[in-house]
Amino acid sequence: MLTEDPFSNSRAMSPSFSSVKPTELHTTLQAALDGEDLSIDQGVFLLEQEDGEAIAAIQQAADQLRQQLVGDTVTYVINRNINFTNICEQHCSFCAFRRDSGDDGAYWLNWATIREKTAEAVSVGATEICMQGGLHLDAKIDGKSLPYYLKLIHTIKEDFPDLHLHAFSPQEVEFIAREDQLTFEQVILALRDAGLGSMPGTAAEVLDDDVRKILCPEKISADIWLEIVETAHRIGLPTTSTLMAGHIETPRQQINHLAKLRQLQQTAQAQNYPACITEFIILSFVGEHAPKPLRRRVGRDQPVLNDALLLTAVGRLFLGKWIKNHQPSWVKLGLDGATEALRWGCNDIGGTLMEEHITSMAGAKGGTCQTAEDLKGAIESINRPTAQRDTLYRTLKKSFQ
Ligand code: SF4
Repeated sequence: MLTEDPFSNSRAMSPSFSSVKPTELHTTLQAALDGEDLSIDQGVFLLEQEDGEAIAAIQQAADQLRQQLVGDTVTYVINRNINFTNICEQHCSFCAFRRDSGDDGAYWLNWATIREKTAEAVSVGATEICMQGGLHLDAKIDGKSLPYYLKLIHTIKEDFPDLHLHAFSPQEVEFIAREDQLTFEQVILALRDAGLGSMPGTAAEVLDDDVRKILCPEKISADIWLEIVETAHRIGLPTTSTLMAGHIETPRQQINHLAKLRQLQQTAQAQNYPACITEFIILSFVGEHAPKPLRRRVGRDQPVLNDALLLTAVGRLFLGKWIKNHQPSWVKLGLDGATEALRWGCNDIGGTLMEEHITSMAGAKGGTCQTAEDLKGAIESINRPTAQRDTLYRTLKKSFQ
């Protein structure tokens, strides 16, 4: 494991944007601030900067663009994560969460436990349940997968119909469709009609099939991921978007991924779809307990905060007006790292989660839960106003300093 201090270089302490000479860098940053869409080459150019002054200028521009687009308030959501099973048919090379049925540590929550966890979340003010699980071939009712997933929704919603259910990645949608021989649209419509409020844009990892062959060879291709997310938007189900970064991918693959997310938003707007992407989250790679081959290849176990921060800033500049809400992952970066990311273009600090398994089992040091007070305290420590939001970024409660 590397023992690198993530705050050890001078990126955050370098001179300001205004001191950088008018160069290609200045022109690129100004274009983003003027609302232009950066090209892929411009995005790669920003990510490849190594000089402290240049990185400080990128940070400052990202912070300024965040201010222009969404203001200073930093939002958080009170939510609970429920991973209903870790039994999974797939074998992603980064995954320390999955088990085969019968393995030590394999679990599959029963309905009573899911109900109990939901009630506990509501009792502390949660407005959202976030639910994802392994692709469990036995998770069926009457031999079909879809009724099992519908029952998950009913189990959450029957006692708490107003609770927002944010659940089921594009990979889970494909799994249900494949198992039950349905179209993606049929699956998403059935989930939506049963009460699903939005879908997490997870399982995206990096939307590049060469990277996916190594990270997640059994998962859906990049094109299928995009097709499922666009289908959700078309039929009115909002999604989030993610990028798993900091492993084997190149800067160009990162930017190509961002360009695909930007294109999804442009399509949603051009086609007048009733829903689109609500936020972008960078999921920095944590490999401490990941299977050894990938761990060895990546050569480090924990995220390098400086790399995550630069990518955060470039993500803000590249996605521009198309995706306005940017969230760091406190699970991956720790609460201090996530708080620092609020100075690099983020405007949301995420959710309380109450229990997180997937990344903590991979060896993340950020913890598995935060209280709303912890999240507010982190935001206030950098003198920014806080607001509790719902899943779709509607303000629920503001706190003024
Ligand atoms: S990442 Fe998800 S799909 Fe891949 S092995 Fe782990 S649980 Fe299964």
